[in-house]
Amino acid sequence: MPSLKAMENKTLTAECANPECSTRASTELMVGVTAGQVGQWRQVTICQSCAEKGWRPENAAVRR
Ligand SMILES: [Zn+2]
Repeated sequence: MPSLKAMENKTLTAECANPECSTRASTELMVGVTAGQVGQWRQVTICQSCAEKGWRPENAAVRR
């Protein structure tokens, strides 16, 4: 039985942080944004379609 972890290593995926979207796609297709407050930054990932729609997590700043 092939290992699931081995498959995950080949295709690194991330889930969109938008709860209404939750698209899972390759990290290459995702946009990384930072959210939170000064000193408590966290990295969140959203899909490109959400990014194009202008959806952002609360307090997020886009970082490319
Ligand atoms: Zn999305």
